[in-house]
Amino acid sequence: MTTTPTWRKTACILCECNCGIEVQVEDRQLVRIRGDKSHPSSAGYTCEKPLRLDRYQNGTPRLTSPLRRRADGSYEEIDWDTAIAEIAQRLAAIRDEHGGDKIFFYGGGGQGNHLGGGYGQALQAALGVRYRSNALAQEKTGEMYVDGRLYGGHTKGDFEHAEVVVFVGKNPWQSHSFPRARPVLKEMAADPDRTMVVIDPRRSETAAMADIHLQVRPGTDAWCLAALGAVLVQEDLLDHAFVADHTTGAEPVLAAYREIDVADFARRCGVDEELIRTTARRIAAAESVCTYEDLGIQQAPHSTLSSYLNKMLWILTGNFAKRGGMFLHSTFAALAGGGGGGGSRTTPVTGARIISGLVPCNSIAEEIDTHHPDRFRAMWVDSVNPAHSLADSAGFRRAMRRLDLSVVIDIAMTETALEADYVLPAATQFEKWECTFFNVDFPENVFHLRAPLMDPLPGTLPEPEIYARVVRALGVVDEAALEPLREAAEAGLASYAEAFFAAVGADPRLMGLAGHVLYETLGPTLGDARGTAALWGVAQLCAMNQPASVARAGFTGTGFEPGNALFERILTGEAVVFTRDDHDHAWDYVRRPDRRFTLEIPELLDRLRGLASEQSSWTTEEFPFVLSAGERRAFTANTIIRDPSWRRRDAGGALRISTDDAWALSVRDGDTLRVVTERGSAVAVVEVTDTLQQGHVSLPNGLGVAHPDGTPGVAPNELTSLHHRDPIAGTPWHKYVPARLERV
Ligand code: SF4
Repeated sequence: MTTTPTWRKTACILCECNCGIEVQVEDRQLVRIRGDKSHPSSAGYTCEKPLRLDRYQNGTPRLTSPLRRRADGSYEEIDWDTAIAEIAQRLAAIRDEHGGDKIFFYGGGGQGNHLGGGYGQALQAALGVRYRSNALAQEKTGEMYVDGRLYGGHTKGDFEHAEVVVFVGKNPWQSHSFPRARPVLKEMAADPDRTMVVIDPRRSETAAMADIHLQVRPGTDAWCLAALGAVLVQEDLLDHAFVADHTTGAEPVLAAYREIDVADFARRCGVDEELIRTTARRIAAAESVCTYEDLGIQQAPHSTLSSYLNKMLWILTGNFAKRGGMFLHSTFAALAGGGGGGGSRTTPVTGARIISGLVPCNSIAEEIDTHHPDRFRAMWVDSVNPAHSLADSAGFRRAMRRLDLSVVIDIAMTETALEADYVLPAATQFEKWECTFFNVDFPENVFHLRAPLMDPLPGTLPEPEIYARVVRALGVVDEAALEPLREAAEAGLASYAEAFFAAVGADPRLMGLAGHVLYETLGPTLGDARGTAALWGVAQLCAMNQPASVARAGFTGTGFEPGNALFERILTGEAVVFTRDDHDHAWDYVRRPDRRFTLEIPELLDRLRGLASEQSSWTTEEFPFVLSAGERRAFTANTIIRDPSWRRRDAGGALRISTDDAWALSVRDGDTLRVVTERGSAVAVVEVTDTLQQGHVSLPNGLGVAHPDGTPGVAPNELTSLHHRDPIAGTPWHKYVPARLERV
C-alpha cells in the first residue's frame, strides 16, 4: 500500500511577504509546493518564485564543516569545538585590546530567517558591540528617518480598499511587498471607480496596468513628488480639518510648497504639467488614498527627501487611520533600532549618521579600510552576503581582508564567506525552526513561526546553537545564576515568567543577554524547538507593549498570561494573528504624547527649497547612460538562490535597453554590450525593450553568484560605487549609476 506524502506548512523565503506555503518532502527534497489557503495573510496566494524552492535547499553545495582560512587564502576544515574556541578567544582579545565597539555585526538573516538575530544580540552584548547594520541600511533608512520624525513608526497602506493607490518607484507585480499583490493589482485595474497611479521612469508591469503613469526622467522623482504636493497646496486641495486636528508644524511645510513653480518642476521631471495637476486633484478628491514607496526612489537621488514628499501626499489629504488609507501598525519584534529614526549618533571614522541603530551600508568598508585608530577591527556576518549585495564589491572585499578577524555564518560558500577568516556552516531555513519579523499588517497583524521540515544536515548547526556555544566560550554568564531559572522553567511558563523578570530586575545586564539566558534555561524544556526560546521573551514584550491589541487577538489574562498564551500559540507552527485593531487604533501607534504628526523637518524643507536651483541630472559625457543596477524581475531573488537552474526565464540576467538606444548602438536581442561605470565594467547580453526611456538601462538583482554550474549574469555591485549616496541616510544610488555602453 502506498502512502500519500503529507503537506506540511512553512513559508516562502524569497521576499518579505513570506507567503504561507505547503510542502511535500521526500528524501530531503521539496518535491511539491503549493500556496497555503489557511494562511491568514496570503490565503493560498503565491507568485511563481517559490515553486522551485528546492533549488535553495538542494541546488547548491552545502558547507558541512567549519572552515578556517589558511595564510595562502585556501580553507581547511576544522571541528566545531576548535572553531568556537578560536573565534571566542580572538573576539575576546580584540575586545580587551581595542574595545567591543571595534567589533562590527552585519546581518542577522535575510528575507526568511530572523530567529538567529535574537541570539546574535546576546553575543553583541557579551562583547560590548556598539555598531551594527543590515541590508535595511542600503534601502530603508531614509524612510525610517522620515518616519521617525513624523510619527515614530512604520506605515503601510490598505491597498485592497483604497480608491486611489500611488506606487512611487515601486513595481508590486514583481516586488510584491503586500499580501496577494497581483490579485489586488488586477482588482484595482479592473475597477473603473478606482485609480492606480505609478511614478516610475520605467513602464514596469505595474505601470502598464496603471490609470496614470507619471513616467519621470530617471532620478527626478523628488521634483515630481514636490510638484504634486505643490498643486495640493496651491489649489487648496488639502484636508484642513485633518491638518489642524492631527498635525503640528504644518505652516512651514505649506509655505515651502507655495514657493514651488509647478510648471518648472514638471519640466525638470519630464512629466506633462497638466497630468501632474490632474493626478493631484484625483488624490485630493478620493475617499481614500494610500501610497507605497520602494527602491526606485529609496536607491536614487534625493531618496530621503522623496520619502518625505511621498508621505506629505497622504498626510495633507487626511488619508490616515481609515479604510483604504495609511496606518501605523503593531510590532512583534523590531528589525532595527525602533521607530525613533535617530540620526544623532554617528559612525566612529567617517561620521556617517546612524539611523534606527544601523550603520549606513555604504560606510562599512570606509570604517574598516583606514588607519584611523577607531576603525572596525572585526566583523561578524550572519546569513547575508554583503560582498555581493553592497555597493562597490571590490572595495568591500578589500576591506574584509584588512580586518583582524572576520566570521561568516552561512549555508554555502558565498562571495562574503570567500573573504572570511572563519566560515561556520548553518542549517537551512527548512532544517530548523525559523521566522521573520516582517510583520507589518493592519488591522490584523500576523506572525508565523515555521517548524523544520527535516533535520539539519550533519555537520551544520542552527544559528541559535552557534551563538550559544560562542557566548558560553566567552564565559560572560554565571552558570550558577542560571540554575534557578532552569528549575522555574521545569515548573511551567507561569513560574518561569516570574523568575525571569525577577532575575532581570536584580541584574539588568541579563536583559542584553536575554536570548542566551532563554536558550540556556527555558530552551531545554522545549525539546527540538529549543531555538524558539527567545520568542518567549519577544511574545512577553509584544503583549506588554500592545496589551489591548493583543487581547483583541484573543490573548487575555493578567500579568504574564497573555504573553505565555501567545508564545504557546505560535509554537503550533501555524501563522498567528497576534494583534487585532480597528482603524482608529492606528493613532495608538503614533509615538507622540499628543498623538499628532510632526510635519516640520527643517533639514528636509531646506532640501525641498533647494530643488528649484539644483541639478536634476548626474550623467556626464563620459557616462551618458543611467544604469538601474538591481532590477527586480520574474526570476530574481536575493542571493540565497545560487542555483542558476532556478530561473525559468532571463537565465543570463539581460541588460535591458530602449529601442532607440538599441538602434543607435546597432544591437539586437542576444547581442552583447560592455557596461562601463566609474567603478568597473562587465559584459552583458542585450534585451531590447520599449519599457525603458532612451538613455536608461537596467540589470537585474541577484545575478553573478558563483555556482558549480556557472555564474551567469552580472553581479551589479561590481559596477556601483560608494560615492553616489544620499546625503542624509547614506543609501546608495543603485537606481542611478552613470554608465556608458561599448560594443564588444
Ligand atoms: S510574493 Fe512570491 S516571492 Fe514573495 S513571499 Fe510570496 S510567493 Fe514568495
